Amino acid sequence: MSATRRPLKSLGQNFLVDDNIIDRIIQAADIQPNQSVLEIGPGRGALTTHLAERAGRLMLIEFDHALASWHQDQFKDNQRVTVIDGDVLKVDLDALLPETPQKWNVVANLPYNISTEVLFRLYGVHDRLARMTLMLQKEVGDRLAAPPDCSAYGVTTVLLGLWFDISRAFVVHPGSFHPSPKVDSAVLNFIPRSEARADVGDEDVFRSVVKSAFSMRRKTLINCLKSAEFAKQVDCTALLEACKIDGRRRGETLSLEEFAALSRYVTEVLPAASVGN
Ligand code: SAM
Repeated sequence: MSATRRPLKSLGQNFLVDDNIIDRIIQAADIQPNQSVLEIGPGRGALTTHLAERAGRLMLIEFDHALASWHQDQFKDNQRVTVIDGDVLKVDLDALLPETPQKWNVVANLPYNISTEVLFRLYGVHDRLARMTLMLQKEVGDRLAAPPDCSAYGVTTVLLGLWFDISRAFVVHPGSFHPSPKVDSAVLNFIPRSEARADVGDEDVFRSVVKSAFSMRRKTLINCLKSAEFAKQVDCTALLEACKIDGRRRGETLSLEEFAALSRYVTEVLPAASVGN
């Protein structure tokens, strides 16, 4: 059977084999009656069976063609389950997760090699989500909760922190997976906020400001900002002066409010539709 084939390292296939951890993830996901649930990378279905029992509607996105076909077969008589044989980084999440009165609950043991990119994609549809319960490499999870001015603080901390309240549910040790990864993992709960934590003006501008500030961690903030696409149209010295931020600082020392101030200013002076990295 395809679901018992050797795990593929290239697809981050570390399958959960610990029933206690599987139960704890399902509890942490707090699926509401009739809720729509998205599972990214169902793999051999360790979480999927439990999700299918609880969800009003379940969507699975699996990149491994053999596993996707296996799930299609398993659920062929279950109208509530849809299996997408595809890449979560390429599918149109906007179209797949239509705006419904009851928002989506995302549950995933993410492939570690693409977890940061998946976070960025989910950040892009935050307004469709009721909750996310995600297993990440522990180090990636720690980054999301890091305060400014520490090495773990980065783009994901600032972007995800704008729209989500993030908390760690528990740590998972390598022995709970097959094959065992080399590092610890953590299950995190992401609860979308009804309002952003700060007024950032245009969100595309905000993303661009944050990414440019972290683009060269050893360089000063002013040098990082000057290399951004928006700097062709925005005077970065005036920008920093207006926001009362010293350009000799490093991007990683800025608080969310300081990033928000930079973003509001750039939003105001930048002609519409000219944002980029
Ligand atoms: N959910 C299962 C579990 O907990 O045992 C499997 C988790 S495993 C860490 C990650 C899963 O994501 C694998 O099934 C892998 O094939 C799938 N995957 C990897 N890259 C993917 C991508 N770009 N899009 C969708 N699924 C992907």
